[in-house]
Amino acid sequence: MKREGLILIISAPSGAGKTTLCRELLKRYPSIRESISFTTRQPRPGEVHGKDYFFVSHEEFRRMIAEDAFAEWAEVHGNLYGTALHTLDEARNGGVDLVLDIDCQGARKLKEQFEGGNYIFILPPSMAELRRRLESRSSDAPEVIESRIIRAVEEIHEARWYDYIIINDRLETAFEELSAIVMACNRRTFRMLDHVSKLFDI
Ligand code: ADP
Ligand code: 5GP
Repeated sequence: MKREGLILIISAPSGAGKTTLCRELLKRYPSIRESISFTTRQPRPGEVHGKDYFFVSHEEFRRMIAEDAFAEWAEVHGNLYGTALHTLDEARNGGVDLVLDIDCQGARKLKEQFEGGNYIFILPPSMAELRRRLESRSSDAPEVIESRIIRAVEEIHEARWYDYIIINDRLETAFEELSAIVMACNRRTFRMLDHVSKLFDI
């Protein structure tokens, strides 16, 4: 029997370090792939259709909702984002480990509707440090930073129903914790039994 792929769902308030940690995860573990979402937002300079996102029109996105093509979808900052059901099924059945970088609303819908995901929430060490990181990233205007801070307070309440929480204070430590979680997910008994039965002929 083929090993089922792991589904890792990672959420965080903007600025907590999710992109940095996910990038490192994909670099260190070539077997893990990133789920490519569908979105109605416009591509940013350098973003590629089919690599960063599948950029689709509102009509196309609505059609996919009507056809139940999404495992989850949500509106984030005025744009629609969704994970296609076939992306998850293909990865899982093909033995591919997949990381989903999705917001809390989408993660919650997925947890209610889709069995077997592993839910990880990344927090900054404090609100002051979150603000410092958002400011030092210098990609957002001051009013955008304020709205991200307000949203962060709401999102942090959602951490309670995730399976794992990582506080991203020192980056190396946070990455070690993320790696440990991935390893633990891989060593769940139901994932190991097939291998064990081959080893010991039981
Ligand atoms: P997110 O994807 O969650 O919005 P980023 O990964 O873009 O966050 O990180 C926000 C900023 O904080 C970036 O400038 C990043 O380099 C920095 N950063 C991430 N993790 C840490 C850390 N542990 N310590 C200090 N700075 C960090
Ligand atoms: P960005 O537009 O900056 O790439 O992403 C904005 C937000 O949308 C991030 O919080 C990201 O986690 C979230 N997001 C990206 N793809 C999906 C998705 O498929 N579903 C949901 N629910 N959120 C997503």
